[in-house]
Amino acid sequence: MRIDLHAHSTASDGTDTPAGLVAAAAAAGLDVVAITDHDTTAGWAPAVSALPQRLTLIRGAELSCRWYGVEPAVPLHLLAYLFDPDDPALAGELARVRQARERRAERIVALMRADGLDVTVEEVRGYAGGGTIGRPHLAQALIRRGLVGTTGEAFAPQWMGERYRLPKEDTDVFTAVRLVLGAGGVPVFAHPKATRRGRVVPDELIADLAAAGLVGLEADHADHSPQQRTHVRRLAGELGLLVTGSSDYHGTHKTVRLGEHTTQPAVYEAIVAAAGGRKPVTG
Ligand code: AMP
Ligand code: FE
Ligand code: ZN
Ligand code: FE
Repeated sequence: MRIDLHAHSTASDGTDTPAGLVAAAAAAGLDVVAITDHDTTAGWAPAVSALPQRLTLIRGAELSCRWYGVEPAVPLHLLAYLFDPDDPALAGELARVRQARERRAERIVALMRADGLDVTVEEVRGYAGGGTIGRPHLAQALIRRGLVGTTGEAFAPQWMGERYRLPKEDTDVFTAVRLVLGAGGVPVFAHPKATRRGRVVPDELIADLAAAGLVGLEADHADHSPQQRTHVRRLAGELGLLVTGSSDYHGTHKTVRLGEHTTQPAVYEAIVAAAGGRKPVTG
């Protein structure tokens, strides 16, 4: 069984439509794929409708969170699997974060315009195509102007990486864990030690999250060094957490391939067993 528990579609900042994502997952030889768009479940229905035979879909999301225990707060990502998308508290919080992303995009466009770039919010919204708006869509405006060649280049400090990096009003991570559990979902900390993405939280905070109901840690991820993967595995062992691996596929916005990292079948089964909200669907 090949299981990839972290992938994005055009419902957020991936470049494959939800239907395209499940088709690509089947073509990549996956048995299970999770659709985990940033702060939205909008890709679930079209992915289910287009599900190829024998491919199993885990419906999930990647929640934009922050640990407010230090100043400035540390941004982090929480994967959430198999939750009830109609749970009012969780759905309301996802909607609030999407709104905050809209406002941040407007502010970033204003910064770009102050630098003499003729970018408009409408243009950037067009790149997001109705999905959750994020920095890769703003990066697209830089690519279209020939200022950078790729999304990766656009994350250099002089562009999205620093100059045009503004914080958004993310969910407190303990609130997020509580909301996911309350909606019958399974929370897994995405790329918890990926220092190349920025600051990371200390192990003590991960222990506190485990005590609050966190279920797993993503260890095998392109943004983790071999040492970071080993560290995450050991920490998960100490805390009694599951260990996952996944691609964090974003289509052409990143260079990772679907199934580049995978999750063990026993871990996948434990995640499914822990879920009270939704079951996996098989085409
Ligand atoms: P946002 O959630 O809007 O702050 O944007 C973060 C997203 O930007 C991540 O989920 C990635 O998809 C993308 N991203 C961040 N850093 C990079 C990078 N160095 N190269 C390519 N994409 C990146
Ligand atoms: Fe992303
Ligand atoms: Zn992430
Ligand atoms: Fe992701």
